[in-house]
Amino acid sequence: MDTEPLGADLPEGARFIGPEPGHATNWALGDAPTQADLNACVACGLCLPHCPTYRLTGEESASPRGRIAAMRAVQEGRASTDETFAEFMDLCLVCRACEDVCPSHVPFGRMMEAARTQIEPHRSRGARFLRWLGLDVVLPSRRLTRLAGSLAPLARPFLPRRIRSLIPGGGRSSGRLPRLTEPDGEVRGTVALLAGCVQDLWFRRVNVATIRVLASNGWRVTVPDDQTCCGALAAHNGHLATARKLARRNAVAFSGVDHVVVNAAGCGTHMAGFGDLVADAELSVRDVIAFLHEEGIRDVAGSLPERTVVAYHDACHALRSQGIHQQPRDLLSAIGNIEIAEIPNGDRCCGAAGIYNVTEPEMSGRLMREKAEAVVSTGASVVASANPGCTMQILAGVREIGSAIDVIHPIELIDAASD
Ligand code: SF4
Ligand code: SF4
Repeated sequence: MDTEPLGADLPEGARFIGPEPGHATNWALGDAPTQADLNACVACGLCLPHCPTYRLTGEESASPRGRIAAMRAVQEGRASTDETFAEFMDLCLVCRACEDVCPSHVPFGRMMEAARTQIEPHRSRGARFLRWLGLDVVLPSRRLTRLAGSLAPLARPFLPRRIRSLIPGGGRSSGRLPRLTEPDGEVRGTVALLAGCVQDLWFRRVNVATIRVLASNGWRVTVPDDQTCCGALAAHNGHLATARKLARRNAVAFSGVDHVVVNAAGCGTHMAGFGDLVADAELSVRDVIAFLHEEGIRDVAGSLPERTVVAYHDACHALRSQGIHQQPRDLLSAIGNIEIAEIPNGDRCCGAAGIYNVTEPEMSGRLMREKAEAVVSTGASVVASANPGCTMQILAGVREIGSAIDVIHPIELIDAASD
């Protein structure tokens, strides 16, 4: 049977979404948002009220729909990856709030990562050098990450106040986590812990608490030596070649384990998407709090020594990308002497977003102040935050407005109550 091609009866000049005949795409070779992903956006605008940068600017170009329109214009050869395009893309936090609410399931995070690979070559020489040094050289190397951590106190006085305030006090960790920790009581299985780069350098105590809680719940915990940075920061900033390399290394390092347990929301989300980066690199990646909630926790009947009001902070990459909301609240409210306080507008991004608080200090600072004021308004004495970037950002924010509120990981509260 003869069939006419779809759209053959449209009036002249009218066409379905897609490049106009004769217009070539302006993406350079390499990673770029795909036509199928771009076509998924129907420009309904339902994501706009959920986008932090649109909420604060009111600009279409700072909205998910506007950013996708800009990508589509490059795809269709009507715009180029120039400075204006880079500004539109760089202001995005990759918080994925838009992806969470999108009725068309537009994979916005994936598209933004690909679009950013296209703007890398157009950055200034200095910016490219710093990004290469940080994302491609230092973070993938445990030795260099530790060296950078040692130098941070020396560099601190010379850094801008905003960056200085983000570096946690108390010094960096030394030595290594135990490679194998045997569980208490009956063995339920073996899990491997992602130690993380920033997490293990500045928040070793979170990794130690994670191992202790898992082991006391019957899980044998390994910390594979060959693991490396998960690559989330590289991917979010358009260094997809490095992100692929790191995904491959981690896929090998973690092969054969039942589950990879992660205690940093951003790393967990990124690792769960390894399959998008490297074929056959799918791992069973589980957020530690969701894991304990789903598998059942033995020991949560404990109590803190005194009544503590805890404000729970929902990291975007836990709430939006992994659907984690009730699980930490259930586990924490089962601990004696803990009262959970809800942060007003708690689903709003704190503005940390990887290195965003360094690259976009103004927008990040506005979001940080909003979050700090919302946190302090709860009257809590502790904030529970399951992402190291958010922890540093909220800590800097509350100190800036004169609050002594502490920011710790929820696993530390579970650990403290299990003693
Ligand atoms: S990204 Fe989704 S919610 Fe936003 S405009 Fe496009 S289709 Fe609508
Ligand atoms: S990822 Fe976040 S900041 Fe970026 S467009 Fe989506 S909602 Fe806005």
